[in-house]
This record gives sequence, C-alpha cells and structure tokens, in this order.
Amino acid sequence: MDESSFILGVDLDGVVGDFYGAMRKIAAEWLDRPIETLEKEVSYGLEEWGIDEYGGYDRLHRFAVTQRNLFRDMEPIKDAPAVLRKLSARGIRIRIITHRLFLKYFHQTSITQTVDWLDTWDIPYWDLCFMADKGAVGAHVYIDDAPSNVIRLRNQGCKTIVFTNSTNQDLPGPRASSWKEVERMVMDAREEWNTGTRTLFGAGTDAAGMDAAGFQPGV
Ligand SMILES: [Mg+2]
Repeated sequence: MDESSFILGVDLDGVVGDFYGAMRKIAAEWLDRPIETLEKEVSYGLEEWGIDEYGGYDRLHRFAVTQRNLFRDMEPIKDAPAVLRKLSARGIRIRIITHRLFLKYFHQTSITQTVDWLDTWDIPYWDLCFMADKGAVGAHVYIDDAPSNVIRLRNQGCKTIVFTNSTNQDLPGPRASSWKEVERMVMDAREEWNTGTRTLFGAGTDAAGMDAAGFQPGV
C-alpha cells in the first residue's frame, strides 16, 4: 500500500454508517413523538420530520452527537465494514472523507466518536479526512450519498458512485444499492484504471457529463 495504490474515497454518513436510521431514533426522542410517525424515506435535510419548529437541523444534530453519541453508536450499513476489509486486503487504499465538522464547538467529540466507531467495527482506512471540499483530497473513485456532494464531485471530474438512499433517487448513475454492488464496481473501476479500458465510467454511461477524457489516473 503506497501512494501509487488505487484510492477509494469513502463518505461515512449514509454510506458506511446508517445515519438516517440512527437519526430517526434520536429525533423521535428529541421531538417526543413515536418513531413510527417519522417518515423513513426522508430527503436530505430531514424536512419530513418537521424539525424546524423545534429549532432546526443544527440543534438536532448537536443533540445527537453531544448527548446521544451519534457518531459512536450508529449501526453500520449492511456489509459495509466487511466489504471495506476485503477491498483493503486487495490493495485498495481506503480514504475516508467526511464533512462531520460542519458545525462548530464539538469537533473533538465528533472526531473521537468517529475514530472509536471505525475501530469498533474494524473498518480499515489509510487516510481520514474531515473535509467539505471532498474533491480537493483526491481519489480515483468516490462513493457518496448526498446529492450536493455527488453533483459537486462530478462537476469537478471526479468519478463518483451514488450510494442509494431516499435522499438521492433522482441522481443519475453510476449507483450502488448495496455494498456487494460497491465491491464489484470498485473492483471494475480499478481494473479499468489498471488497463486503461473504460466501461463503468465510460463516455455515454454517466449523465453528469464525465467522458473518457476526464479519466485521470493518479489524481
Ligand atoms: Mg453522506
């Protein structure tokens, strides 16, 4: 494993960790409502839960992290830790890129919980980046679920797989709905990178407009 390895840029919330499932439980308590009344198929920002009346998303987020250990206690997405272990064992460099520090004043808590959680689930990683501009750190392929991140990455020419959830149904592919699919797509992408062939992200397969000329080995 070195700088010449194929790099997979991995988002955490909604991709490796079941962010929306964990937030739904915490929000039910915070809103003092039965959990069944909270819509499961949320959009980005959780507007379906009516949290604006109670102070808005930032307040819920702060409560979730600082009082309910959101980043330490959330469940992983099915198969995510095991597939990441397999990919790492095959020489793919796991670069975690998360925007968990977007709120001020509890960065230490957020970072500590994140590192503890990654250890608890034995999730391998070489790099851990707390970044808003995910394209700035570079990866050969990214996987993310937030529509704004996916769109921005693709606009920067970064090859990005959408990890399917209710927040991103309208985005064009490539997309994966399970970590088994992620595994196959990442292995295909590395093969393309090794051989110079293009299928997964080839011209005409990506409505975001990436074409063969956008393929940049070594980015
Ligand atoms: Mg995410």
